[in-house]
Amino acid sequence: MQYRVLGTTELEVSVVGFGASPLGDVYGATGPEEGKRAVHLAIDEGINFFDVSPYYGISLAEHRLGAALEGRRNKVVLATKCGRYGGNEFDFSARRVFASVDESLHRLRTDYVDLLFAHDVEFGDIKQIVEETIPAMRRLQEQGKTRYIGVTGFPLRTLIRIARAVPVDAILSYCHYNLLADDLATVLAPLAESQGIGLINASPLHMGLLTERGGPAWHPAPSEMREAAGSAAEYCHHRGFDISDLALRFCFDYPGVATTLVGMATREQVRSSLRAFEAPADPQMVRKVRAIVAPVFNRFWPSGREENQ
Ligand code: NAD
Repeated sequence: MQYRVLGTTELEVSVVGFGASPLGDVYGATGPEEGKRAVHLAIDEGINFFDVSPYYGISLAEHRLGAALEGRRNKVVLATKCGRYGGNEFDFSARRVFASVDESLHRLRTDYVDLLFAHDVEFGDIKQIVEETIPAMRRLQEQGKTRYIGVTGFPLRTLIRIARAVPVDAILSYCHYNLLADDLATVLAPLAESQGIGLINASPLHMGLLTERGGPAWHPAPSEMREAAGSAAEYCHHRGFDISDLALRFCFDYPGVATTLVGMATREQVRSSLRAFEAPADPQMVRKVRAIVAPVFNRFWPSGREENQ
């Protein structure tokens, strides 16, 4: 495993990060025992960065991750979030942030997290995030309940607006750097670099779209994008490999982020992520697959470039 320092923090994180949302059954039911074994295997193989949220499975993922980390807490860099508690349930008030962290620490069976994120900030009031949520998170940092703080969300424009208004240690961006999109590199990375903010890339499989199985029913991509991703998966399959391996390797190779979070809940997924990490890079195949998906993607998916115009 390789490790990179997250921005200007003291956190050294594995290039392959463990996204724990599938432990909350957000991609379908998973076995809790298998999930625990997947966490243990990941740690044994050197994966040290784990990301979760009270929102994933409405606290189920935190419960399961906490149980799996029992006795292993000191081997991992642990991130959780606050502010999002359901599909449409958000509360970024300082009061809720304080209570939320205590609930998360209880479920995670620890007395501190390494990173606390405000979760999906575009659904909050930006003024409140800047003037109330983040200052509350800084107070938690002073109290030793979190070592660092950051924000997560989808629109790059919103993440940038917040980072310009108030210092944050890390930004978690999803679906903006993978075989389908790479505007994280052009739009967000320059700001992060200039401000010493650590970047985390999430959803390297575009929330399941870049897999042979395809995305879950709730995936926001229109049918045209699903079909294009399906064609790309078929193209890879006929050439004897799984599109997920190519998609993961593409992300692991990008040095502009400290870690790439892969959503995992089984040992097989951990093994295939590690296989993708070890596999040789194939830039020619990346170009071919991107040529299949890019034209469709550019028409249908909100782009960070446009958002910032
Ligand atoms: P992902 O792109 O990693 O896709 C996950 C899906 O792919 C799941 O169905 C999983 O079972 C499957 N999968 C995993 N490894 C595979 C492999 N090798 N081959 C085939 N299928 C595989 O999407 P994700 O889970 O949404 O993102 C990863 C993590 O990033 C999340 O678990 C979460 O921790 C974090 N995240 C955070 C935010 C946010 O804060 N707003 C948003 C998205 C993701």
